Amino acid sequence: MKTDRVTLIQGDGIGPEITAATLEVIEAAGVKINWEKVEAGQDVIAEQGTPLPDSVIQSLKKNGTGLKGPLTTPVGSGFRSINVTLRQELTLFANLRPVKSLPGVSSLFRDIDLVIVRENTEDLYSGVEHMVGSDAAESIKIITRRASERIARFAFDYALKYGRKKVTAVHKANILKLSDGLFLDSVRLVAKEYPRIEFNDVIVDNAAMQLVINPHQFDLLVAPNLYGDILSDLCAGLIGGLGLAPGINIGEKVSLFEPVHGSAPDIAGKDLANPTAMILSAIFMLHHLGEGNAADRIEKALAEHYKEGKLLTADLGGNTGTRKMASALAERIAKMG
Ligand code: ATP
Repeated sequence: MKTDRVTLIQGDGIGPEITAATLEVIEAAGVKINWEKVEAGQDVIAEQGTPLPDSVIQSLKKNGTGLKGPLTTPVGSGFRSINVTLRQELTLFANLRPVKSLPGVSSLFRDIDLVIVRENTEDLYSGVEHMVGSDAAESIKIITRRASERIARFAFDYALKYGRKKVTAVHKANILKLSDGLFLDSVRLVAKEYPRIEFNDVIVDNAAMQLVINPHQFDLLVAPNLYGDILSDLCAGLIGGLGLAPGINIGEKVSLFEPVHGSAPDIAGKDLANPTAMILSAIFMLHHLGEGNAADRIEKALAEHYKEGKLLTADLGGNTGTRKMASALAERIAKMG
């Protein structure tokens, strides 16, 4: 079996639990990955003086592929968001968030299959903010033509490659005429290069309502950073919650696979977390590594698991722990042979 070197960041909060579950499932599928384990997050601050040691960035640059649990940047710690810094340092410009119903999971809608492509490097996440005196604060929203065209091209190329028929740009250009206006103009320009893909645009507040009323009208949504972040949590809610939503950060040289959700400190260390979002992220990683066979078997095991609907974690109304869910999946995969 082929081996690949992959950076592994287990993360904090529920990170170690869902990472252990994911590794158990990958192993059951017979893939031997040569993991390079690196530590980041609040637990390394005392030892290394930063939640994001340079060795983490270097490892990802060297290996080109990473699997990552959620990381929390302690509020008021003086450190910039670890996730945002990682995305900017590695120019992980596209954040792909597939939203697909899992049959058997009770949720608001059935058969949802859409993708959110979120610009990942600028917008209000650029980190340019300051106090104006002591009673006012300014955060600067940065939108550039370069990053907007780059994410638009990525979205249309993705649509072509994976058979998506329609791209919808999400914006608030009616109010933010310059910044979101530039984003919308850039996507419109790129859309002209892809006449086979249907294109439309929708204002973000309307997008939120339309997604709740009729999500099936959407195929691929492309959005600036903030709207993409918010709408992908909304979409996770449509299919059963954050425990089911995988994510992929893509750059020219590095791909980093991670669940959409955060470190969920409220349930950390209690064997309550649903590992599905991280397992789904790992499935995308296995495809990326050319391990499509193993990826398909894990996906099939997950589908059967949910169809059977017996061993559900607390977020889905069950009382199965993270560890038990992982071993049940591993057993199922092993039985597939
Ligand atoms: P962030 O700002 O990093 O997104 P957050 O605190 O806003 O973090 P999450 O950590 O994602 O958000 O948690 C939001 C809610 O969803 C919490 O109640 C958490 O317990 C729940 N949640 C998140 N991930 C999971 C999971 N994998 N399994 C079960 N519940 C989860």
